[in-house]
Amino acid sequence: MTTATATFESLNPSTGEVIETFPRSGAAEVDRAVEKSRAAWEGWRLVPAPERGNILFRFAQILERSKPELSDLMTREMGKVKAEAGGDVQEAIDMSYYMGGEGRRLFGQTTPSELRDKFQMSIRMPVGVVGAITPWNFPIAIPAWKLTPALVCGNTVVLKPAEDTPLLAQRFVDLLHEAGLPQDVVQVVHGYGEEAGDALVRHPDVPIITFTGSRETGVAVTKAAADRLKHVHLELGGKNAIIVMDDADLDLAVDGITWSAFGTAGQRCTAASRVIVHRDVYDALQQRLVARAEQMKIGAPWEDDTEIGPVINEAAVEKIHSYTEIGVDEGAKLLTGGERVEGHGFYYRPTVFAEVEPGMRIAQEEIFGPTTALIPVGSFEEAVLAANSVEFGLSSSIFTRDVNKAFKAMRDLQTGIMYVNAGTTGAEVHLPFGGMKQTGNGHREAGQAALEVFTEWKSVYVDYSGKLQRAQIDNQ
Ligand code: NAD
Repeated sequence: MTTATATFESLNPSTGEVIETFPRSGAAEVDRAVEKSRAAWEGWRLVPAPERGNILFRFAQILERSKPELSDLMTREMGKVKAEAGGDVQEAIDMSYYMGGEGRRLFGQTTPSELRDKFQMSIRMPVGVVGAITPWNFPIAIPAWKLTPALVCGNTVVLKPAEDTPLLAQRFVDLLHEAGLPQDVVQVVHGYGEEAGDALVRHPDVPIITFTGSRETGVAVTKAAADRLKHVHLELGGKNAIIVMDDADLDLAVDGITWSAFGTAGQRCTAASRVIVHRDVYDALQQRLVARAEQMKIGAPWEDDTEIGPVINEAAVEKIHSYTEIGVDEGAKLLTGGERVEGHGFYYRPTVFAEVEPGMRIAQEEIFGPTTALIPVGSFEEAVLAANSVEFGLSSSIFTRDVNKAFKAMRDLQTGIMYVNAGTTGAEVHLPFGGMKQTGNGHREAGQAALEVFTEWKSVYVDYSGKLQRAQIDNQ
């Protein structure tokens, strides 16, 4: 914890009540944390990787034990409904086991040399102090995506979590310490992005920033890190589309759309905020989707039967509603929703727009709420064109029974994640996670891809010939 005297509050989005108060740290607190992190790195990088992995195994076990407590806290601090909160924690458990195992792999390459009596290999090296900046929408999973690979690779971490979910981040880090991680190897600095976050990004002793959040902040982080040529790993927004072809199983498609558009109240980077529908099934699909949206139970996320909880804060309600007004002004047809739920907390009704054109703002910009836009098309080719017409490239999906269209979609949709006959959300921890285009800068989270973010390659040549051998010359 820091010694900052200014504070900020974490609120329960269902009630608006204060959960806990946290220090609003700034550059001085970041300096202190980085200094300790830098010192801890000198020891941590030399801890054998299998031993680092063992700590992650223990952490995974502690997370399993703590899953009910963390899920309950998540319903209260972030507003995710119970089952989804459990899924968020489970993702962290899975990732910790996966990265724990990486402690016994961290494979490099050995290759033959072009010269005699010479050995060569490439090995992974840790980068140093990692500055990790995380959003609130996966408050346990995303810290796990970043911290577990960073740690197993031999880096130390200073985490600046989102200001909306500081308590969950604090619990996450406390449990890492409980698993046996030395205190200074992972530290958390609470505070606002423009203060603590920016100070972390600019700190000269932090060579790498891993950031998940909005595109706008990602650009600001990249610029702030540019002067020192830092490694910057970005996971940004999405404007994900589900394509429903005329041969699709419509009930299945409605299940997938409902889960992807309204789950987590639409506050997933992979949320299906566009549904591109073949005209032949457009009316049938829209009727079923609207019926389903209107049946969804909105309520307190800690109650078992709640399907839609609150959005994160008042500003989110206002932003989502402003897009409802934009959609209406643009001439789209509001089929259902489009208003906040009166009473306590930050609730917004599941919202469906029809007759949306691909170029409209509600079909182009990330709303990050329970709003989806139905776009009618006449062919597969038109559907792919519409799907690809946005600046983001995170996730996409197609519902079809035609294997040829499924494979063409796999090839042609410009997204880092793609589903066939499922919604746009449901990634597993052992495949790369991330997006094309302006969803990121080419890196990926999770799986083996995460190791590329958190290590540097070192190529090592060992000559045991006892004489000077010149590559590219003495082998002629
Ligand atoms: P945000 O960009 O507002 O904030 C993210 C984090 O950045 C927070 O911790 C914030 O304090 C910090 N921050 C803000 N300004 C900063 C600055 N100038 N310098 C350094 N740090 C700063 O995003 P959010 O509202 O917390 O999260 C929602 C966004 O995250 C959406 O766009 C969503 O799509 C995206 N997201 C992406 C993924 C992915 O993997 N692609 C996953 C989840 C969320």
